[in-house]
Amino acid sequence: MEISNIDFLYDNEKNLSIINEWFKNFYSIGTDESGGVTRLGYTKNEDIMHGSLRNLARSIGLKYSSDEVGNTYVYQDDYEDCYMIASHLDSVINGGRYDGVAGIVAGLLILKWIKENNIKIPVKLCAFRCEESSMYGIATVGSALVTHKITHEKLKKATNKEGVSLYDALKKRGYSPECKKIDNIKGFFELHIEQGRILEIKDIKIGFVSHIAAPTRYWLTIEGRQDHSGATPMDFRMDALCAGAMIITKLEEIANIESINKTVGTIGYIDNYPNAFNVISGKVKLGIDIRGIDKNSIDRVSGDIKEYIAKVCSDRKLKYDLVNISSDEPVKMNENLIKKMEKAANKLSEPYYVMPSGAGHDAMKFVDICPTGMIFIPCRGGISHNKDEMINYSDLLTGTKIIFETLISF
Ligand SMILES: [Zn+2]
Repeated sequence: MEISNIDFLYDNEKNLSIINEWFKNFYSIGTDESGGVTRLGYTKNEDIMHGSLRNLARSIGLKYSSDEVGNTYVYQDDYEDCYMIASHLDSVINGGRYDGVAGIVAGLLILKWIKENNIKIPVKLCAFRCEESSMYGIATVGSALVTHKITHEKLKKATNKEGVSLYDALKKRGYSPECKKIDNIKGFFELHIEQGRILEIKDIKIGFVSHIAAPTRYWLTIEGRQDHSGATPMDFRMDALCAGAMIITKLEEIANIESINKTVGTIGYIDNYPNAFNVISGKVKLGIDIRGIDKNSIDRVSGDIKEYIAKVCSDRKLKYDLVNISSDEPVKMNENLIKKMEKAANKLSEPYYVMPSGAGHDAMKFVDICPTGMIFIPCRGGISHNKDEMINYSDLLTGTKIIFETLISF
């Protein structure tokens, strides 16, 4: 589409001051003792964030609505078919102020440009509910509900600390887990902080996401024999922790081999029983997390570590129990859309880097619905899910311009 005057796009001073003002608007909501923010999904603090977004929309003269599960939409005109710019307004416990909110601010700025310059692009901003898994143990809830990617069974199984299921919590709030499936979306954009250090190390301000990695996870419990550490000779032992240690380092070794395919493997969770100086470990529980963008590579790591677990436990005459808790498919972003965004970046003379995302995002739920793309901007030191999360507003503005330029290129 031809737009005669896009000077507003280049008034950096004005745009940066708007971005600054909007972040200030959200700043104090959910501030906790850590100095960070706690705005958990489907809680009062998340409601206040959505209320603040509605107030900002009203102040710009935009319309807004919400759906049957509490997601908030902001738009100039309620077009039948539209592009969507989306992210989330909830946070983890003691989280930062830019994870999710950056994408909402980007979308709102585009709508402000559209409104003030009377540009006819059919676009809606959506703030999805409960993107973080901190509250109910499952992530991207609001986007999964409206794309029908979550079963009622899963909603009923997912509970908060008090044992209330997500299904019951939704019902109690007057929401409807049986909501209508979202349709008529022509394209989906999400701008998000990188939550890693790659862009900062490369000194590049814009990343285009090629794939979103998916986790395969297991709980592994190894049963040994709890014995006196002084009275039990080395050859009489059935030490569960020693077997666990071998498995931890073996996973690192296997994942290192598959790192050429960008697969990573981590054991970051360990419970050791009874965990005492003078007692040989009788039981160990490990949380195994394997992620990547290539399912075959993830499956190879899974297969190799399973084989090794069986061997170590058999050699050491230990019993074990391995439970798979997730094996999600990695998703690929739309290549055509990436090309269009690259073109927009070139037009703005902005260097970019095409990279996978290790973390999950709402965008994952849209890849099979419409062309879907994600833009990353750096966060200082790669720090995220932390009160010290920080971004440069100028990077956010650059990413927003790229989305806008892409939208007008259709
Ligand atoms: Zn996020």
